[in-house]
Amino acid sequence: MTAIWYAGGRLDRAVRLRREPERLHAALTTPRTQIVPLWRDRCLVAADTVVRLGGVDSAWLPATVGDPVFLGIDGDRPLFAVDLSGVPEAEALRATGAERTVDLRRLVQHLDPAEAAVLAYARGLCYWHRHQRYCGTCGARTRSVEGGAARECAGCRQQLFPRINPAVIMLVEAPGTPARCLLARHAGADDDAFALLAGFVEVGESLEDAVRREAAEEAGIVVDQVRYVASQPWPFPAGLMVGFVARARGEATRVDGEELVETRWFSRADLRARRAARGRLGRPDSIDRLLLQTWLDAEQD
Ligand SMILES: [Zn+2]
Repeated sequence: MTAIWYAGGRLDRAVRLRREPERLHAALTTPRTQIVPLWRDRCLVAADTVVRLGGVDSAWLPATVGDPVFLGIDGDRPLFAVDLSGVPEAEALRATGAERTVDLRRLVQHLDPAEAAVLAYARGLCYWHRHQRYCGTCGARTRSVEGGAARECAGCRQQLFPRINPAVIMLVEAPGTPARCLLARHAGADDDAFALLAGFVEVGESLEDAVRREAAEEAGIVVDQVRYVASQPWPFPAGLMVGFVARARGEATRVDGEELVETRWFSRADLRARRAARGRLGRPDSIDRLLLQTWLDAEQD
């Protein structure tokens, strides 16, 4: 099966440890501890390796850095992340011995999947902390609690938890035979850049409702038999992609002209030809690749 990037991994999130501040503090400074530094959502890289720092020597931390965020236990290593976004890039590089900052999605194909999952988790959590410094209810400052798994408002004491924005991505099959699936070209995309339909879930919708609405809104198509396939964390910055296969009731489509400019039905032979010509199907690190590959592998015609 095609791997789902950013998911899985071997990290024990050690939920109980989050609620034991003294043990957690001790875990931060063991010889085995590692700290993943991030700067404005980017990884710090030295000699083509993502930098991890030792927990023992935390003197390198610039004074403006927020609380380290506990990620979990990796084997026997307590693992934390620290967000250096409050200092200029040059200072973040100097403090960590890194040579450059790089977006995780540009690195992912050179990483072990477990490492990519840890870095995605760290990135999503650091992003959330940076954007949740004030309470949305009373406006007071918030502070990190439970090792960074939550924040608490200093005014109304409300606890705030990391927000995840779910989105659906769907492979729509044509009714009847031969089997074909619907891909669409987004406004601004290259002439030949066809992708699966996708969109955010709205308040008051089930995931299946969102699949039906997005298919109707974007491509003017009615779908039923909406079937879940797999999901993918997508903390760029706070997404969860939920993948489906759905069956169209008819073949006629009508693009909205704003988000989508063209739709096209592709047979399995068409997709194989595209894969051969382009060297891949879908984004290398995204669940759309898995949905397309799963559909190709399920050949029945
Ligand atoms: Zn508050």
